Amino acid sequence: MSNVTEQELAMYRQMLAVAIEEAREGLAEDGIPIGAAMFRKDGTLLGRGHNRRVQEKDPSIHGETDAFRKAGRQTNYRDCVMVTTLAPCWYCSGLVRQFRIGTVVVGESRNFSGGVEWLREAGVNVIDLDSTECAELLAGYIESHPEVWNEDIGELPPE
Ligand SMILES: [Zn+2]
Repeated sequence: MSNVTEQELAMYRQMLAVAIEEAREGLAEDGIPIGAAMFRKDGTLLGRGHNRRVQEKDPSIHGETDAFRKAGRQTNYRDCVMVTTLAPCWYCSGLVRQFRIGTVVVGESRNFSGGVEWLREAGVNVIDLDSTECAELLAGYIESHPEVWNEDIGELPPE
């Protein structure tokens, strides 16, 4: 994170706060607490959302895809910032690469590191804020709902 200024870091933390609000909303709905939001580089909010696998019975609604869809059509994703409470999975990392989203701000990658390294290798600016709040929020959920979590990351249930 050496090339990130203090000012940018403060903005990224504010952006993450929106994603955390979304994650908590998901938890209040008995869903998986992962939230995301998409912004312009100048801080303009484009869309926000959270994982709704449980609520909508739809495995394709991840925090990132929800925020991405709610942002609607954009002509340029290179100056967009995707902020998510958890490192993006392969599916969402694919979305970032498909649309060439320039910056990804990750709340934490302790519970799951997803496609972070793959994104970095592709030149995506990935900033991991290593937020204890994000890590604890999801860790608590995984502990109480291991089967839902495994389903979300494509792991088979134990035989
Ligand atoms: Zn995902």
